[in-house]
Amino acid sequence: MTPIDATLTLAQDAAPHAFGTLTLADALILMSFWKPILVLLPFVGWGWLISTIYDKHAHRFHLGRKQWNMVHLIAGLLAVVVFFAIPMKGEIAFWIALLAMMGVLLVDLIVFPMVANRDDRVPEAHRLRFDLSAMQEARAAKAAAKQAGKAELILTGPGKRKLEVPDTETPEFETRVLAESLYIKGREARASLVEVLPSGKPDGTYGVVYLVDGVRQAGDAFPGPQALSIMDVWKSAAGLDVADRRRKMLADVSVEYAGAKKTVRVLSQGTQGVMRLTLTFDPAESVRRAVDDLGLLDPQIEAVKRIAADGTGVVLASGQTRGGRTTTLYALTRLHDAYTSNVQTLELEIQDAIEGSKQNVFDPQNTEAEFSKTIRSILRRDPDVVAVAEVPDQQTAVEICKADHTRTRIYVSLRQSSALSTLQGWTKAVGDPDLATAGLRGVLAQRLIRRLCANCRVPYQPTPDMLKQLGLPADKVKQLFKKGGQVLIKNKPELCPVCNGGGYIGQEGLFEVYEITDAIRDMIRGGRWNDVKAEFRKSGLPSINQVALRKAVDGVTSVEEIARISQEGAAKAGAGA
Ligand SMILES: [Zn+2]
Repeated sequence: MTPIDATLTLAQDAAPHAFGTLTLADALILMSFWKPILVLLPFVGWGWLISTIYDKHAHRFHLGRKQWNMVHLIAGLLAVVVFFAIPMKGEIAFWIALLAMMGVLLVDLIVFPMVANRDDRVPEAHRLRFDLSAMQEARAAKAAAKQAGKAELILTGPGKRKLEVPDTETPEFETRVLAESLYIKGREARASLVEVLPSGKPDGTYGVVYLVDGVRQAGDAFPGPQALSIMDVWKSAAGLDVADRRRKMLADVSVEYAGAKKTVRVLSQGTQGVMRLTLTFDPAESVRRAVDDLGLLDPQIEAVKRIAADGTGVVLASGQTRGGRTTTLYALTRLHDAYTSNVQTLELEIQDAIEGSKQNVFDPQNTEAEFSKTIRSILRRDPDVVAVAEVPDQQTAVEICKADHTRTRIYVSLRQSSALSTLQGWTKAVGDPDLATAGLRGVLAQRLIRRLCANCRVPYQPTPDMLKQLGLPADKVKQLFKKGGQVLIKNKPELCPVCNGGGYIGQEGLFEVYEITDAIRDMIRGGRWNDVKAEFRKSGLPSINQVALRKAVDGVTSVEEIARISQEGAAKAGAGA
């Protein structure tokens, strides 16, 4: 300590003798006026972060606010205890005590975001980040870009070719910003895909449609010529022939936006002079789910694994268009080890790579090729597992039935909505009940249902009438849930930050899974479909409707959502008939 410091601190304190046995130097260290401030400052900062940011975060996402406040309180007390537990002997001891105290507070500050960020209830966009200044800067830059209509996306197509941003003040630049808005709005809405297609109005306008959790939401509308230029931006980014407005073409574009890199599959196709563009977000990730995460109930997962372990014969797996068919087909195929066995697929478009397998693509635009001949040549090579994504004609179905069912397992994906209709459809497609049932080992059918947002769903007590109508036991079911969309923060309703007010977030499958026994094969051959139904019931495995109700009781979905998908199913069945 310099003499000047000593004088200053002495002047602050008029009675140095009060410290008794302490030396004058000790007293000076303790009495420095800035030291208590130094001790208080970390507490103020820590307290501010906890009360303004952490507590609100815990409240918003239901992260056990009370428990967390208890943790912070204990951490604060511990910091005080640590500070005073270190004996105050000399200058160095003070600094050690201060550091130890700050260390305790810092650990508390780090632990909360670490735990909270791993919590599924907190969406990625709302994760806590330490770098507050960078976060603010990014937010400011984004707002400024929005105001100025700046190009925000970096679009990289095949061959790492970046799409140049046109000069500002040009019409091309305006088109680019509009093309980017499809992506930005789609991401904000959590869409799985965006479509630009003719609106069907006589004025020749095009509309934008976002598919969010399987539900179509209308977006902006554009005059025809403008819509075509917007589509051309994406086609150029993907390296597709802009002049070709007819042929079906697709390619992937890597999109960098707000620090995140994602894949968009650009598909363009035209019929009768009108073009249609589809942007699929994260095509691979969107179909990548393990069998355990598809939405199957536990006994159904066991049944699927039993069917897979059997390893031979034909297994039918059905769903509706965009109803999770590909996800399920891939999940089933992945149950087999593609390194020790020969696993192949035949698809119209490879959505995701199945490691170790050979994925064959059938190009319908190639007039020389025939689906049935392609599948026949694959089956001739003695594969262990084949996944067939489509059955376009009877010949294909017949080829599948004629395969060696003692050696090969074939998964066949069909467009149906129940296990029974899948079996009926398959028998009809093959055209010969004996042939159709010969190798049949199992059947799966699925529908997709939207999941309630767990952050804002609203519990309610169903009336006895309602339970009776649903066929649920009134003595067991005390509560159900409906969609919310809002949360109360400090007694004020706010749009739910997790689902953006939609009330639903994500989808999962409702399944029917049945093993095909000799008895069922006989019933199918005899066309005794009511017996097949009864046999399904006897298996103890639930129907899609039973699974749906189970999920309503568990709070995964709502009764309204179940009604919506059954109406949709009825409408589709009606249209198909
Ligand atoms: Zn919500």
